[in-house]
Amino acid sequence: MKDITKGKAAFVYASRLSEFKFSPEHPFKPLRVEKVYEMCERKGLFSDPSVKIIKVDEGNEENLGTFHTADYIDLLKRADSGSDVDVDMLYHGIGTMENPIFRGLYQFCVLSVAATLKAVEMVTDGFESAFNPCGGFHHAHSDRAGGFCYVNDAVIAVKKLRELGRRVAYVDIDAHHGDGVQDAFYDDPEVLTVSIHESGRTLFPWGGFENEIGKGRGRGFNINIPMEPDTDDEVFTLLFNDIVMDSVRRFAPDVIVGQFGTDTSATDPLTHLKMTNNGYIEAIELMHKSFPKIVALGGGGYNMKSVVNGWTLLWAELAGLDAGGGYGGAIGGVLMGDSSIEGSDLRDMRSYLSGPKKKELIQSADKLISYYKEKIQLLI
Ligand SMILES: [Zn+2]
Repeated sequence: MKDITKGKAAFVYASRLSEFKFSPEHPFKPLRVEKVYEMCERKGLFSDPSVKIIKVDEGNEENLGTFHTADYIDLLKRADSGSDVDVDMLYHGIGTMENPIFRGLYQFCVLSVAATLKAVEMVTDGFESAFNPCGGFHHAHSDRAGGFCYVNDAVIAVKKLRELGRRVAYVDIDAHHGDGVQDAFYDDPEVLTVSIHESGRTLFPWGGFENEIGKGRGRGFNINIPMEPDTDDEVFTLLFNDIVMDSVRRFAPDVIVGQFGTDTSATDPLTHLKMTNNGYIEAIELMHKSFPKIVALGGGGYNMKSVVNGWTLLWAELAGLDAGGGYGGAIGGVLMGDSSIEGSDLRDMRSYLSGPKKKELIQSADKLISYYKEKIQLLI
């Protein structure tokens, strides 16, 4: 299906999302979206006529029902007051330390889904790609919250694109396994689901192993690449090229829904990988070159500087603009209001492991590549 191009990229900005607060100590900070917006603006990445900022202020509640159960949606509605947690909510993962209730929780869910669906609309209505930084809530299941995720906007986006007749591959490079998306399409051969993440042996959600390859007709259309702790850019790139890119090329989608969490960074406080944003952005660049139509979603990322730099680089790539120049707010971070976000260079310094540990990591990666070639490649 041909999508006539009206512009290069759309940045979907639901600024109200930045106002929500999970809980004071919670690592997930909706405020990051505002910081990303500010950085892109400061870098001049919104000024080109081929890009557009799309503001989203409200959403349609009905969109949640394309994936989530009515009972679960009712629980989210009840949790919106931010006060009373009951046993039913806890049973469905709502009101825990991980997925706390907070004032406006339901509104937060409706709005984040609306922003992701707006990104879908832009891509199917003439933009090459679109980015919703406050999306990618890949751990939510149809009737259960998990891993800071209450509603799964990524699943809802894939379903919408399918409804519109597009062939979709979901590519998830967040440090955590995209379990909610895997479950949604596990027996579906019409959606390719690929997740490259830190192994479930050492990280939530404790699954996403290579032998989870889909079932029934969907066998071979669910791909997991569990990386060992300490994996660096070189090993990630090897796996990304040989498995992610190979599988996506074989599947030949019209559109990619990408979950581009930045928590693979060595600086991330919740994960154990040793990547820099060079490995992160180079993978996205490679994919974007072959598959320009991307609905890009945010995801995890718990070091503010890494998120802001990573997603600014992501936006620059989608927009076809150079993020290298411009002013990064070096005067003590005053302009950002956050002294941890300084300097004009968005790229991390390159850093690689060496020695016996590196050898071990390469051996593990080779095993995953062999497994993919022997068991999965020909099923796609
Ligand atoms: Zn994550």
